Amino acid sequence: MRLKKIKLAGFKSFVDPTSLPLPSNCVAIVGPNGCGKSNVIDAVRWVMGESSAKHLRGDSMADVIFNGSTSRKPVGQCSVELVFDNSEGSLGGQYATYNEIAIKRQVSRDGQSHYFLNSARCRRRDITDIFLGTGLGPRSYAIIEQGMISRLIEAKPEELRVFLEEAAGISKYKERRRETENR
Ligand code: ATP
Ligand code: MG
Repeated sequence: MRLKKIKLAGFKSFVDPTSLPLPSNCVAIVGPNGCGKSNVIDAVRWVMGESSAKHLRGDSMADVIFNGSTSRKPVGQCSVELVFDNSEGSLGGQYATYNEIAIKRQVSRDGQSHYFLNSARCRRRDITDIFLGTGLGPRSYAIIEQGMISRLIEAKPEELRVFLEEAAGISKYKERRRETENR
């Protein structure tokens, strides 16, 4: 499953609807300080269900919504959509027949988040389920942020185990078992 497009609207500095195509030969995004490179990564984490404002470099969840500039008024809501190429059917099960998987999250200033899977409303859990065990997800090792390497080096054995279990693809089953036991 390859991420082929990121669509943003009202998210942080991306106030106008923006579509970022990601061709398979794209290896880096470069630009001057403050142009929004890290905001793109924040958007990817956010749409996959990140629920900590701190992990998105903000104080509150509403900080992801464009809060105005000298020439523009703040906006009332934002959305981010990730479009994955699933033509090889890597995402199987009920999604196997979809050539494209689009996941979207939108939020308004009142704080209500809505999630969509190929345009149909879904739960946050439906989105997080797709990525469990793939190494991609709001806190996964596919996104290596500043400070993460030193956190890994200094991690306690139990914390390291979480990364290893995700890499081995067993975190998905552990999560299922935890849920069943809690029922
Ligand atoms: P660097 O090279 O320094 O790491 P960068 O390209 O990663 O820079 P970002 O951190 O992605 O830059 O973008 C920072 C910009 O985003 C700042 O100008 C900041 O004002 C703007 N910004 C962040 N949140 C919002 C928001 N809610 N509304 C409007 N602008 C925002
Ligand atoms: Mg940055």
